[in-house]
Amino acid sequence: MTPDEDNNIQSTVDAFGGSVTDYDRLIAEFGIQPMDEILPQIPKDRQHFYMTRGIMFGHTSLERVVEAMNKNKPFAVMTGIKPSSAEYHIGNLVTCNEVIYFQKQGGKVYFGIADLESYADGRLPLEKAEKNAIENVADLIALGLNLDNAYVYRQSQQKDVMRLGYLLSSHATYNMVKAIYGDHRLGVYNAAFIQVADILLPQLLEGTLPTVTPIGADQAPHARLSHDLVRKKFFQENYKFILPSFTYHRLIEGLDGSDKMAKRNPMSVLTLYETKASLKKKLMNAFTGGRTTVDEQRELGGQPEVCRVFDLYRFFFMHDETKLQKIEQTCRAGELLCGEDKKNLLGIVQEFMVSHKQKRLDALPKAREVVLERFDQ
Ligand code: SF4
Repeated sequence: MTPDEDNNIQSTVDAFGGSVTDYDRLIAEFGIQPMDEILPQIPKDRQHFYMTRGIMFGHTSLERVVEAMNKNKPFAVMTGIKPSSAEYHIGNLVTCNEVIYFQKQGGKVYFGIADLESYADGRLPLEKAEKNAIENVADLIALGLNLDNAYVYRQSQQKDVMRLGYLLSSHATYNMVKAIYGDHRLGVYNAAFIQVADILLPQLLEGTLPTVTPIGADQAPHARLSHDLVRKKFFQENYKFILPSFTYHRLIEGLDGSDKMAKRNPMSVLTLYETKASLKKKLMNAFTGGRTTVDEQRELGGQPEVCRVFDLYRFFFMHDETKLQKIEQTCRAGELLCGEDKKNLLGIVQEFMVSHKQKRLDALPKAREVVLERFDQ
């Protein structure tokens, strides 16, 4: 396919609220490269455990970012959040952790508050988006974002993004966006062009610059649209954009055993602000890979590969590889039982939440300043 040909492959993923069940198909459909292949180029002590545990399972064009990391050259890490809620759920933490990881490797963070997208797909007023964004930024600071090497902006106030988004849209056809995203209101497609403009903002402001955008698997259509547009002659000749890089992570599934953490199903979601009682209720009722009876579990062992409790350890709460392996081995051997394991996890999560709540409270004034004062000019 030449760079200017429209892509007519019908996407199987909905980037605006879908879930992913068939990762192999997604990898094939979106030309995602396995993370395993690029991992040897990253020194062991600089590899994130998401990379080695298969959570960050793939990438596109990450080579130039890895090269910049290894040679201590400038690169950017781009991310954004739809400020549709003041409360991050635990799934948001994956992207936050990845962004902070790349920042620690030398990347400058560009953090876009996707208020236009929240309006386009959820009719969220911009003022409400602003309030939520302050809370979201406070979370990121609490998780370790260094504001000294970060550029935080709101889509609605970043004229460069809106101009570029408009220009990008004028180089796309309806068939192209429909093939990538499926059927949506035009405002949703507009939001997609704005997202591509977000992804290209570091290059727009700083010139040709390796830029990595860590995304969930369901966001793969945005990566495709970015690449399809950047390859177009107009943007190559006039902007000298290089292909933006992406990493793709697995999506955390619903605590109750459903495919996805969804707000309409509270028992599926874990937020960072659960009360002690709701945390206990959700964890103790979480879907596990346990057997129907204790005897059966002792005999057959558990199945951590389908267990949401094990997912929480693997994604967030057990960084130590040896300890994680021990949980897995003792589970499979039938030595560890689900009730005991859930209680252990409950203690760890409670401690994390208490500490996070305090850090977030401390970070709120700074977050307010960054979202309001720095950009309300
Ligand atoms: S023992 Fe733990 S890891 Fe194993 S199935 Fe039960 S809750 Fe999951």
